[in-house]
Amino acid sequence: MFPAVMPTYARANVAFEKGEGPYLHATDGRRFLDFGAGIAVVSLGHAHPYLVKVLQKQAAKLWHTSNLYEIPEQQRLGERLVKHTFADSVFFCTTGAEAMECAFKIARKYHYEAGHPEKYRVITCQGAFHGRTLATISAGRQAKHVTGFGPLVEGFDQVPFGNLNELRNAITDETAAIVAEPVQGEGGINPASLDYLRGLRQTADEYGLLLILDEVQTGMGRTGKLFAHEWAGIEPDVMGVAKGLGSGFAIAACLAKEHAARALTPGSHGTTFGGNPLAMAVGNAVMDVMTEDGFLDRVDAVAELLWRRLQGLAHFHPEVIEEVRGAGLMIGLKCKVPNTELLDAMFERGLLAVPAANNVIRLLPPLIIEEIHVNEALAILDRACMAVKGEGS
Ligand SMILES: *Cc1c(COP(=O)(O)O)cnc(C)c1O
Repeated sequence: MFPAVMPTYARANVAFEKGEGPYLHATDGRRFLDFGAGIAVVSLGHAHPYLVKVLQKQAAKLWHTSNLYEIPEQQRLGERLVKHTFADSVFFCTTGAEAMECAFKIARKYHYEAGHPEKYRVITCQGAFHGRTLATISAGRQAKHVTGFGPLVEGFDQVPFGNLNELRNAITDETAAIVAEPVQGEGGINPASLDYLRGLRQTADEYGLLLILDEVQTGMGRTGKLFAHEWAGIEPDVMGVAKGLGSGFAIAACLAKEHAARALTPGSHGTTFGGNPLAMAVGNAVMDVMTEDGFLDRVDAVAELLWRRLQGLAHFHPEVIEEVRGAGLMIGLKCKVPNTELLDAMFERGLLAVPAANNVIRLLPPLIIEEIHVNEALAILDRACMAVKGEGS
């Protein structure tokens, strides 16, 4: 019989019934240390007691009303995101792709409103990932994502990631915006240099383009700052946020400076589920935790420890791990063996992680991990490396 769920994923043969901080318990009794966090989503770990309390309380009161009415919790989360970022205004939605769609629509409408409807093209980077809608696959243009889905959405021009000269050469009178991820996630944990990010800002200013950053994966504390671009000391005009924002609840947002946000006039954009009371209660609870004094400092400290230990591991197993790269708790292990082999060996020993392009393994642990979890992960990684080399267990 054809599967009742469309066969779009290659799933591991395991299901989970309970989560606790950085741990997942499988239905067959096995326990796993979760360094994938649902692909960088469960930012505060599983079943965080405070988030559970807030969600249960809100669930008993009110879930959804639609954006036909005022939603005080949405207003409050918007104001808090504005306070803690470059942005003046926020549009709430449900998925990363939807946040990026909003960003691309803002780019077009911004220039349209300025009397330049001919400026509609967006420059994107090779290896980028912005989602799976038609516009976002057209932006990312990965062969495996676009094949068979043409014709693609018009208006995306791709240049090599990290090369400012090629980017500048690609700018025409029709260019509206530049979009980039501060650290490419699905693309294989490729960090942009801080100089490149500053160069993007400079180039956008020079040509009157909007700078859009996709911080769907890098955002919400993942790199040790609330948003990764803060490391470069720059501000985008527009930014997509999602994964970590709801710590497992589907919440996304498109943040923008006033000049860009003004493009979205009443009735010009919308979404049914975005920013509903239940989602916003959880989003505010996540913000409560992440903006607590010392939270991001602790992320930074545990990330540094994990990095040091991983460097040691790579040094010890050069036949298995070629490079450790990334930022904060968004770490890529570039493998010399097939990444799936090492992932399987980790899985068998109780450590979950996520594959990425170019034979990379992504470590994206919840931001609440501590030294003991780093130690546990490294012990497993060490044994997994031995195993793929055919030594030990
Ligand atoms: C995951 C991701 C997206 C897409 O988010 P969805 O919620 O799957 O639509 C977009 N951009 C980046 C950088 C991502 O990592």
